Amino acid sequence: MSSVLEIKNLHVSIGDRSILKGVNLIVPQGETHALMGPNGTGKSTLAYTLMGHPNYTVTAGEVLFKGVSILELAPDARARMGLFLAFQYPVAIPGVSVANFLRAAINARRRAANPQDKGIPVPEFRKLLKAKMELLEVQAEFAGRYLNDGFSGGEKKRAEILQMAVLEPEIAILDETDSGLDIDALRVVATGVNALGGPAMGVLVITHYQRILNYIKPDVVHVMYGGRIVESGGADLALRLEEHGYDWIKERHAEVAKEG
Ligand code: ADP
Ligand code: MG
Repeated sequence: MSSVLEIKNLHVSIGDRSILKGVNLIVPQGETHALMGPNGTGKSTLAYTLMGHPNYTVTAGEVLFKGVSILELAPDARARMGLFLAFQYPVAIPGVSVANFLRAAINARRRAANPQDKGIPVPEFRKLLKAKMELLEVQAEFAGRYLNDGFSGGEKKRAEILQMAVLEPEIAILDETDSGLDIDALRVVATGVNALGGPAMGVLVITHYQRILNYIKPDVVHVMYGGRIVESGGADLALRLEEHGYDWIKERHAEVAKEG
């Protein structure tokens, strides 16, 4: 069965403030969807809610992944099902190397599938990591550094994409993985997404700018405004936003912003 992420009439609050006001979105495995929108419209709120961040309260609607309602599941359970989020602002974990972190993540998933699992054998893990690092043009010494500790913006994004490459999720959500990236790092992120995408992975690329979509070709582009998806279309929609900005969206959907 193909793995579909289905978001139905999702309403989300932070504290007593309503942020998402009825989001409907379907991301099937094998497709790349872009979610664009002005800053502060709820894109990251959607990403965090999908992954189960405790600060975000779902007040209505539901989220199905592979036909299963996931809103009651802990983030790690969602991850083990094959859902992945590349953070907009990845957290540093001094003392834990990139390699050890990735191995622990792989083993957690293996043990979820089989409690008797002894973990991935070290030679097999090394081979896997080497292959993925070569694919993403990441230098070998990267694996020994502490996760995100003192990493540049570009290195943090590479680390997120490396996690995605190693974990091979069925649906990956990339939250502004392009922001603050120079063109080389942007290309690495895009190369990774394109190499790993294909029939096995569905991708939701969240981005404020059209730029990354020159490298990652979306099947569908959605625009979020005022906590709702107000437009969906093909790749040309992103080009239109590049050319004209978000003002026409704000004008056309002014009623959305007025609602509380
Ligand atoms: P985007 O990713 O589209 O820029 P966000 O989802 O980050 O938007 O934010 C949506 C709205 O929620 C914004 O108005 C923002 O100020 C508010 N918000 C985000 N995080 C918090 C928080 N922890 N507490 C209160 N308000 C928040
Ligand atoms: Mg954001």
